[in-house]
Amino acid sequence: MENPFDDTYFMKKALQEAELAFEMGEVPVGAVVVIDNRIIGRGHNLVERLKDVTAHAEMQAITAASNFLGGKYLHNCTLYVTLEPCQMCAGALYWSQISKVVYGAADLERGFNVMGTQLHPKTEIFGGVLENEASELLKRFFIQRRNLN
Ligand SMILES: [Zn+2]
Repeated sequence: MENPFDDTYFMKKALQEAELAFEMGEVPVGAVVVIDNRIIGRGHNLVERLKDVTAHAEMQAITAASNFLGGKYLHNCTLYVTLEPCQMCAGALYWSQISKVVYGAADLERGFNVMGTQLHPKTEIFGGVLENEASELLKRFFIQRRNLN
């Protein structure tokens, strides 16, 4: 039997978080942290709402997951995020020693890859899951924002 809890399944959950950000007028990025096929942290971008540049989706999801686990390390966890993490989030993921990071769309301007930031050597990285859905949502957001101005 096929495992229904695959990368696509959880990336859809991250996309639902991104939709919440979109509805709030935030750049639509969403993230979930998963352990044993269970979501233990969710987050979406809240930079405008909180007036806080550190309020990226990944940071919210990491904090929620750590609170859930009662520990700072996210061993055996996977973070699903709709957009390639930035340097700051890659740094936080580094400190968490998370086992796996799966992202949707690549961020060729401000993603950790182009910035030359390394994740933890223990962290497995996988990109491009539902990347079209993630980048369509971002495009839709920026077109709408341009039309409002
Ligand atoms: Zn970030």
